[in-house]
Amino acid sequence: MHLILQHAHMLCNSNRELKNFCQFNTNLTDNNLGPTITLASSSITTTKFKSSHETFPMIEAIKKYADEANWRQTYSISEVGEDFANRHCYFELVGPNGHFYNNTIRGFVCYWGEYLKYNWHSHEAEEIYYILGGKALFKTKNMTKVLKANDTQFHKSWESHAMEILEEPLLTLILWRGNGLDKLAQIDD
Ligand code: ZN
Repeated sequence: MHLILQHAHMLCNSNRELKNFCQFNTNLTDNNLGPTITLASSSITTTKFKSSHETFPMIEAIKKYADEANWRQTYSISEVGEDFANRHCYFELVGPNGHFYNNTIRGFVCYWGEYLKYNWHSHEAEEIYYILGGKALFKTKNMTKVLKANDTQFHKSWESHAMEILEEPLLTLILWRGNGLDKLAQIDD
């Protein structure tokens, strides 16, 4: 997991939007989370993600060490539907409950299968998405745009957002900061 942390750290230093959003060092306490799997996590090692030259090394590190990650899927089927629950998963790389402890920022590695729809949801923490691989249509109440590898998208505290995964699976690094860091996103009605 250290190698994945190092790649996240390098991307946060080399990408201007990520660097402006937060900074963290790699000298973090290892929470010693054991590996867990979900229905979706086993497919990640064999998925070919459409990357960029910036994101390719981190994708390779995630695929190489995917079986050491503490994969989770925390939505219920009644909230998101069975297909979404079966083909989405994430792990917390950095954060209060992550592989590496940090109480000021939280970093997730998140996966969605192709053509999944992530309905409107929100959370108190501010957020930046960084696309590692694949493509998705991002929506807020003010804009809709397609994001691909090396693109970022910022969400304000409690700003409702939604996403449609396009024809390829999506792999992202998501960073949170501010209040509500230890909470989960909630589906908006
Ligand atoms: Zn969000």
